[in-house]
Amino acid sequence: MNFKKAIAYVMINSVLKIWKRVLMKSEKKRCIMCGNEILKSYSARFCDFVKERMFKNKECDTELVYCPDCGLYYSSRRPNDNESEGYYKNYMEEEYISHRCKIEPTFNKFRQDYVTSGDAEKEFLSRIHNMKSMFKKYIDFDKIKSVLDYGGARGNYILKEFKNAQKFLYDVDVLEPTNDDTVKVSYEELGNHKFDFIQCCHVLEHVAYPMEIIKKLISLMKAGSYLFVEVPYENDLVLPPPSGN
Ligand SMILES: [Zn+2]
Repeated sequence: MNFKKAIAYVMINSVLKIWKRVLMKSEKKRCIMCGNEILKSYSARFCDFVKERMFKNKECDTELVYCPDCGLYYSSRRPNDNESEGYYKNYMEEEYISHRCKIEPTFNKFRQDYVTSGDAEKEFLSRIHNMKSMFKKYIDFDKIKSVLDYGGARGNYILKEFKNAQKFLYDVDVLEPTNDDTVKVSYEELGNHKFDFIQCCHVLEHVAYPMEIIKKLISLMKAGSYLFVEVPYENDLVLPPPSGN
């Protein structure tokens, strides 16, 4: 490539980048959760592990978006199905962990410390305790005849207090339920049921368009059904305050 061609190449690329940004800005953006149009955006980039595993190291422009209406923070660049699958393939299995450790060397130590310190067990028991305390304010456990844990891995967060209920688990993962009284169902089989109680814990933050999941869950309910949704709270993650850049 001679000098003139190189200059032309750089100029065309710069114009394309500026045009892409103009297009991104002019798009009518709505909050992916509540649909609010008045949003705040902050400069952001994907961390190296996400960039490599989800986007195969492609350059991906993104922003951190904050919705003042519902309080959600999210990345403006939503992954497509292939990108999500790339990221979650073998999630937390040996291949995933060794890949992440290669890029984030402190990851495994953090994870091992968490497991060996007993914090994982403490967290499990504390969450079960909190769920029990909350549910019993609103629910008569004895009247619940069917329970679904949507995305519940092994279904071990289904409370034993639901003693009259048939218990179902749906998860994209291949893990089998911890408890013998829990039946794992496929996505197609979900449609054969209407559940009295559905729980969906720490799932929505892993999907590109959480409202699609909420709509699906509502389709599996009937009048008087209960839905419990649990997601991370931003103060736990020490995200930046909604001001500045
Ligand atoms: Zn919102």
